[in-house]
Amino acid sequence: MSADTLLKFMLGAGQVRGAVVQLEASWQTMRARRRHADAVQLLLGEMAAAAALLAGSLKFDGTLVLQLQGDGPLRLAVAECQPDFGLRATAKADAEAATVVGLASLANAHGGGRCVITLDPRRSGQQAYQGVVALDDARGHALPDLAAVLGQYLRDSEQIPSWLLLAADAQRACGLLVQRMPGDGGHARDADDADEAFARAVHLASTLGRDELLQRTPEDLLHKLFWQEEPRVFDPLRPHFHCTCSTHRVADMLRALGRDEVESVLKERGEVEVTCEFCGAAYTFDLVDAARLFRAEVDQPPAPRDAQ
Ligand SMILES: [Zn+2]
Repeated sequence: MSADTLLKFMLGAGQVRGAVVQLEASWQTMRARRRHADAVQLLLGEMAAAAALLAGSLKFDGTLVLQLQGDGPLRLAVAECQPDFGLRATAKADAEAATVVGLASLANAHGGGRCVITLDPRRSGQQAYQGVVALDDARGHALPDLAAVLGQYLRDSEQIPSWLLLAADAQRACGLLVQRMPGDGGHARDADDADEAFARAVHLASTLGRDELLQRTPEDLLHKLFWQEEPRVFDPLRPHFHCTCSTHRVADMLRALGRDEVESVLKERGEVEVTCEFCGAAYTFDLVDAARLFRAEVDQPPAPRDAQ
């Protein structure tokens, strides 16, 4: 089993940048932790690969959250990438998800599907960023896959000409992103050169099929596609499975739910069990834990003021 890898690269004189990602162990863990219908599972693989690619292409210190809010059998799908490329993903779907294929039938059955990209900063006080796009093209036609949605988002919302390919199967989840570097030094000729370099890179990348993307190693893939463009490849990054759930976070969630709600569940079942949607971990709070939960709220010293 090859290690999970994200390779960032630049081509030629640096007017084109990109990244290739291959998830294997992390993807196997995500698949094993939560079972979904095949079509949903494959879409989640593409989303995990895309989240790693997007996180790698942004100068941003925080969590990238990629969401699909569907109006078909897929209600919601989420993939998250932490600053250290810790990945997790989950989905909520109806039973009919087992009978359909493709993004449009899964999430955009009535043209109301949305893709939401959130950048949640690691340090409090920094502004979160959220971009929302439809799953249709400019003429209102349903886009065929997630790569087309994200390509349109990067071009239209981020103003970065971009080309993507995403693929997933039972073994791996992979992606390739190629982007024209923003800025052109102010010279029309430089801009033309950059446009040309980007067009050439897209032409070369377009020869790649999904099967090949899934089979070749990232190093091999970059060499095969771009050897004429003299790719500069940066040190490999290591995406991995990581769920950020914890007893502490579940306790916060129960506190937010309120004492009455928690006590009514306790009365009925004797304990409150919360299962993490992402990794399947179960957190159980009995009467004693629950009492402590709300007593802590009262006994807790005032939170320290932010030193800044
Ligand atoms: Zn978890």
